[in-house]
Amino acid sequence: MDIELLESTMVEAGQPAYRTRQVWEWAAKGADGYDAMTNVPAPLRQILSDAVPFSTLTVTGEQQAKDGTVKTLFLTHDGHPVEAVLMRYRDGRRSICVSSQSGCPLTCTFCATGAMQFGRNLTPSEILDQALHFRRLEPIDNRGEAPKPRDTIHPSRSGGASLLTNRGEAPKPRDTIHPSRSGGASLLTNCVFMGMGEPFINFDNVIAAARRLPDVGITPRRTTISTVGWLPGLTRFIDEVDEPIRLALSLHAASPGLRSQLMPVNDRYPLPDVLAECRRYVALRGRKVYIEYVMLEGVNDTPRHAAELAAILDPKAFKVNLIPYNPTGMYGGSSRDRIADFKHVLDRARIPATVRLTRGRDIAAACGQLAAEPRAVRA
Ligand code: SAH
Repeated sequence: MDIELLESTMVEAGQPAYRTRQVWEWAAKGADGYDAMTNVPAPLRQILSDAVPFSTLTVTGEQQAKDGTVKTLFLTHDGHPVEAVLMRYRDGRRSICVSSQSGCPLTCTFCATGAMQFGRNLTPSEILDQALHFRRLEPIDNRGEAPKPRDTIHPSRSGGASLLTNRGEAPKPRDTIHPSRSGGASLLTNCVFMGMGEPFINFDNVIAAARRLPDVGITPRRTTISTVGWLPGLTRFIDEVDEPIRLALSLHAASPGLRSQLMPVNDRYPLPDVLAECRRYVALRGRKVYIEYVMLEGVNDTPRHAAELAAILDPKAFKVNLIPYNPTGMYGGSSRDRIADFKHVLDRARIPATVRLTRGRDIAAACGQLAAEPRAVRA
C-alpha cells in the first residue's frame, strides 16, 4: 500500500490522522482488502479503494517448494519484476526474504540477480508490500496471538507525523511473537534483506521500510540487512540507525584479488575499508556482524582460504555463516566435506561459524537464485 498516497488521499477527504493509522494497522495485520476494515466507515472505504490500490505490487506468479518455501514474483506499477521468498520452519518461525531493488546493478559472478537487467530502487511501500503479501498468506487468526498494532504504534507520541518517518519505539521481541504459545501458528517472525538488490544503494527506502516492519510483527532484532560492503550506506547505517537491526556482510573471499574477481565492487570499496567500518559498528553498537561466505568448489573453499579468512576476522566481532552454493550455472558447489574442513579451520581459530540451511532450491528461491525472467521486464 502506497502509504504516502494513503496519507494524501485521507487529507483530501478531510479525514483525521488517526484514520490513516487505522487503515495501515489493518493492512499490517494481514487484512486482504479495504472491505475487511470494519471500523472504517463504508463511504471512506469506497474512496480508498478507488484512489489507493491495496498493494503497490501485482502478483504475477507464485511457486511452492517441497520444503514449504514460497517464492512470489511481483510486478511494480511500471512493470519491473520483484521477487520475495517466504521460508517456513518446523518450530513455527516464518522468515521472509525481501528485495530492495528490481534486479541489481552489481555483478557478483556467482549471483543470478546480477545477470538480469537492473530496474530501479524500490520504494518503502514496495518493500513493505512484499512482507504484507506473505502476512496475508498466513492465517490472521492465530488464536489471538497476532501482535496488537497498539503494541507497536504509539499514536500519541508520533503525533501527526508521517507513517514513513515515525520511528515509534521498537517492541521487545517477546511482546509480539510467541511461537511456543501459538502452537505452530504462523506469524512472520524474521525478515532478511537478502533478495534482489543491494540494500545500501537504496539506503533511505530500505531503512524506512525496516522501521515499519514491527507493525507487521517483525522486530528490529529479527531484521537483517545484508550488504556487499557498499560503504556510503554502511557508514550511514552505523551513524544514523539506532534500532538494533542486524548487519550481514557478504564477504566470500579474504584475498583482494579473488574477492575482486568474484565481486567487482571490491575494487571500488576494498574489503579492509569495509571491515574497518564493520569494527566501528561493533564498537559503537555492541553487536556482531554476520559474515556471509558462499562456498564455491575449488575457488574459495580450501583450508588455505579458511585460514586467510580467520586471519582478517576478530572472533569477538564477527560470526561466519557458510553458505552452500546454490546452482546458478556459473560454479560448482563445495561438497559437505569441504565445507566441514573449512569450518574446522575457523573453529580452531575460534571464529564462530555455522553452515546455512538451504531452502527452496527446487524452485530457484534460494540465495542468489532470484532472477525474474527478463521477459517480465518487457511485459
Ligand atoms: N546485495 C546484498 C543483498 C543480497 S544478499 C548482498 O550481497 O549482501 C544475497 C546473499 O546470497 C548474499 O550473501 C550473496 O552473496 C548470497 N548469494 C548470492 N548468490 C548465491 C548463490 N548462488 N548461492 C548461495 N548464496 C548466494
